[in-house]
Formats: sequence, C-alpha cells, structure tokens
Amino acid sequence: MCEFCHKHGEGKKWYLQAKNYSEDLMSDLRRRKFIKEFFESPESLDRDIKKLGKLDYAPGFVKRVLTKRISNKMKKIHFGQVVPIEEVEQIFDFVTSVVRLACMCRHLTVGSEQRYCYGVSMAPNGGQLAQVIRDINASYLTGPNTAGLESISKDETITKFREYESDGLCHTVWAFVTPFIGGICNCDQSDCLAMRATVTHGVPVMFRAEYVSIVNPDLCSGCRECMRVCQFGAIGYSAAQEKAVIDPRRCYGCGICRSVCPNEAISLEDRSTVRIAANIW
Ligand code: SF4
Ligand code: SF4
Repeated sequence: MCEFCHKHGEGKKWYLQAKNYSEDLMSDLRRRKFIKEFFESPESLDRDIKKLGKLDYAPGFVKRVLTKRISNKMKKIHFGQVVPIEEVEQIFDFVTSVVRLACMCRHLTVGSEQRYCYGVSMAPNGGQLAQVIRDINASYLTGPNTAGLESISKDETITKFREYESDGLCHTVWAFVTPFIGGICNCDQSDCLAMRATVTHGVPVMFRAEYVSIVNPDLCSGCRECMRVCQFGAIGYSAAQEKAVIDPRRCYGCGICRSVCPNEAISLEDRSTVRIAANIW
C-alpha cells in the first residue's frame, strides 16, 4: 500500500474511500481558496514547470534536496496517482455526480481546450467544487471549444474513459489539499505538466498505481502493441525470445498496455507482491 492509503485510507485504497470526496472537506475555506487560485491562474503552473526545467542543471545535491522538498509539499496540496480503469469505474459508482471541464495542461501546452478532466462530487451537479470553478473567470474554462463546466452522466463518463483508455491515456486521481480528491484526469506525457514534472524532470508529483503489469510469455506473440502505448518506457522487447518484457521498476501500473494487447497476455498484479517494485511509488 502507498503512503496515501496508510494516511488517508485506513489501510485500504484511499481513492476508493467516499469520505475523501466529501462535501465536508469541500467546506474548508483554505481548500476552496486553493482550488479557486489553482484554476484561476494556469500561468503560475506553467511558470513552476519552467522552473523545474532549471533544476535539471542544478548540482546533484541541490537537485536532490529541492526535489524532495517540492514533492513533499505537493503531496500535501496537489498530487496525482495513477488508477486503472476498473477502479476508476468503482469511483464513478459511489460518487453522486460528475462534471467535465477543459484540461488546464492541454490549454497551456498545446493551446487546445480538450476536455479530459472530470470533477467528481458526493453532491448533485458537481457540488461545491463545481460551484467554485463556475465562479472563476478563466478563458480556458469557457473557451471556443467548450461549453464551460458540463454535467455528464456516469454512463457517458465511463464510455469516454474507455475511449481514452484505448487512445493510450493514463487515468489519474487528483488531490486538492490532501486528502480531498476532486478530479480524475486522463494524462498523456506530451501535454500533461504533472507527467513532465515526474517523468521528464524527476520531480514526483504523480505517483504510481497500486499495481504493476506482468506479461505472460506463453500468451505473448511479440506484436509490440504494448510498447507503442506505454508512456513510461517500461516495456522492452526481447529479440531472442520475441516477446515483450516489462520492467516493474519503471511500470506505473496504468494498465494501458493490457487494454491494447490482442492476446490478453498482460495482467495487473498487486504492487506489493512484486518485490522489486513493491516500494517504488
Ligand atoms: S501487446 Fe501483448 S502480445 Fe503484443 S507484445 Fe505486448 S504483451 Fe505481447
Ligand atoms: S508497462 Fe506499466 S506503465 Fe507501461 S503501459 Fe503497462 S501498466 Fe502502464
């Protein structure tokens, strides 16, 4: 179990606990202020990522100290964790409503207002979270390609998530002042700022799933479809065996490779049972 499950899930998966999505948590004024400022000023997120780029050139010791400091701070206020599709569906089962909004990362990185972010709430119409976002005057939330914040049925949401899954997008839950979880996003390394921070700059703000993927060599035909979709460079190819090989130390447990495998050769295993990856988050 990851540290978030220990701290916020009472030993169970923290993102499957309804209390971490509650309206009570959303009543906290500090949290509401954070959410307002976060969605109001995407530019500050962009600036932070550019600063991380400078960290790449810092001396090793300085980089280690700052990386830890930034990561620990983000664990308290705003971080993501990879969650496989079946558990995303479990979350949609117990929340009361879902709203869809334009993704801030895509707005900043590709200038396009694609709607990959989903706000989840235990109240109707997105609850207090949606209300805070509705009150914000930010162009990417109301831009030409979107109709603002949109309520969406759970069935439609699940259909969209399955589409994202086959497109190779990685599902992640997001804390807004931990332990409150306000959203589920669909991330791609080309335009997700958190993935850039984590994977490109080595500053973890998005953490691994409770799972690791394993290939069954008896079922693998060596087609390499899984390699094409892995966003974390975790899959290699053994020319000698003509099979895919997953490095559990690099695997984030998103399960996207599993979805595209034509032979059902990939399964997700509990991270704690794969010794080499058990403590890598
Ligand atoms: S997609 Fe499946 S069959 Fe193809 S290489 Fe990967 S594990 Fe093997
Ligand atoms: S190998 Fe791991 S990180 Fe890569 S797609 Fe599969 S589950 Fe995701």
